[in-house]
Amino acid sequence: LSSRLQMAMRRITGKGKLNETDIDEMMREVRLSLLEADVNLKVIRQFTNNVKEKALGQKILSGLNPGQQVVKIVFDELKRVMGDETVGISYKASGLTTIMTVGLQGTGKTTAIGKLGAFIRKTEKKKVMFIAADIYRPAAIDQLMTLGKQLDIFVYQEGLIKAQTIVKNGLKYAKDNLYDVVIIDTAGRLNIDAEMMQELIDVKEIAKPDEILLTVDAMTGQVAATVAQSFHEQLNTTGAIITKLDGDTRGGAALSIREISQIPIKFASNGEKMDAFEVFHPERMASRILGMGDVLTLIESATQNIDEDEAMDMMEKMMSGTYNYNDLLKQFKMIKRMGSISKILGFIPGVGKYKDALNNVDDKQFEKMSVIIHSMTEAERKNPKLIEDSSRRRTRIANGAGVQVADVNRLRQALDQQKQMAKQMSKMSESDMKNVQKD
Ligand code: GDP
Ligand code: MG
Repeated sequence: LSSRLQMAMRRITGKGKLNETDIDEMMREVRLSLLEADVNLKVIRQFTNNVKEKALGQKILSGLNPGQQVVKIVFDELKRVMGDETVGISYKASGLTTIMTVGLQGTGKTTAIGKLGAFIRKTEKKKVMFIAADIYRPAAIDQLMTLGKQLDIFVYQEGLIKAQTIVKNGLKYAKDNLYDVVIIDTAGRLNIDAEMMQELIDVKEIAKPDEILLTVDAMTGQVAATVAQSFHEQLNTTGAIITKLDGDTRGGAALSIREISQIPIKFASNGEKMDAFEVFHPERMASRILGMGDVLTLIESATQNIDEDEAMDMMEKMMSGTYNYNDLLKQFKMIKRMGSISKILGFIPGVGKYKDALNNVDDKQFEKMSVIIHSMTEAERKNPKLIEDSSRRRTRIANGAGVQVADVNRLRQALDQQKQMAKQMSKMSESDMKNVQKD
């Protein structure tokens, strides 16, 4: 979606408490971003209602603040709208599996056939054949023949004769020659048209396909969904291939199709090369749409690793200014458990400038800093001022840890940075409070 939603999400991920006003404001941003992404109105209404209902009625998970929890709900709902699970091809247990493809002209049908053929051969080790039944332009047959040659997949064709005849003969040929899977290319039009539909119905009658896959062009946004609905009503399609995803950053088509047409999205085509094709993953698409990979990962690792009490404790200490080397040591351990530091810091608004400094701290440096802290006396760890005031202490600690005095100074800086960050955060929570009072 647009940066608008991402901004709104980031604003609330830092928040401790959310009230209904926050959620309403959030939902307004969600609605606007979905509109900008060209998502169908009906889908938008359903979507925002569901998210709001869940956000209001939900208990807060430990390890997440309410803002992060809303992000999680939005993410889960995006996934649900696109189908939750991946759906593959249903192959016949034995004998020939027939896949018929349909779709408007230019949506990427022929290209998708090439990709799907190569995909099935590679992942299923099945013997694949194509049938060229797009009989209105010689160029359409040539295109499929070229793909077949390139992929080393046999193309059955009889030129520009009746599609039904080609399909009938082609299927016989496939059975006689023990192919496992046949994919049929059919004629599209620029718009839905009765003649095209009738021809497809006739071909379906003859082919009795196991799958009817519809290609929809992601770049057409919600139009893709209404087109899909018409195809589905007349042909009872079994799945969609969403094409040209490489040119679509908005996600309007992906979000609208399933809810409007009821067709599951089975595959995604995302480029002109033959291997730019994959099983459609609602989860991946949802993170792409949300564009908040870092926050999502954080939410995941937070639910797994962080003891909430421990984190709150740490936070309070930092805020109160009694933060010392023992706390820093604990924090190192926590950060290590959680993984990348930038992920943790990235979601706290306003700490961007400290992020880089801490980001340079790798595992080895954590190790080194831990050793330095361990060669401090308990009094020094609890009271950082002792070290500030005495260069003798700093030299002793450096010697004890087998490092340079400069390393000890770097550690002092790290402690300072944490304190600075705490100040920044407490300032922010104060202004949050003011905002709430204004409301
Ligand atoms: P058909 O008329 O439905 O059979 O569509 P084609 O397969 O001939 O594709 C129409 C145009 O879209 C061609 O120029 C393709 O190269 C291009 N195309 C197809 N799929 C994709 C895709 O996933 N990404 C991009 N960028 N272009 C695609
Ligand atoms: Mg074509």
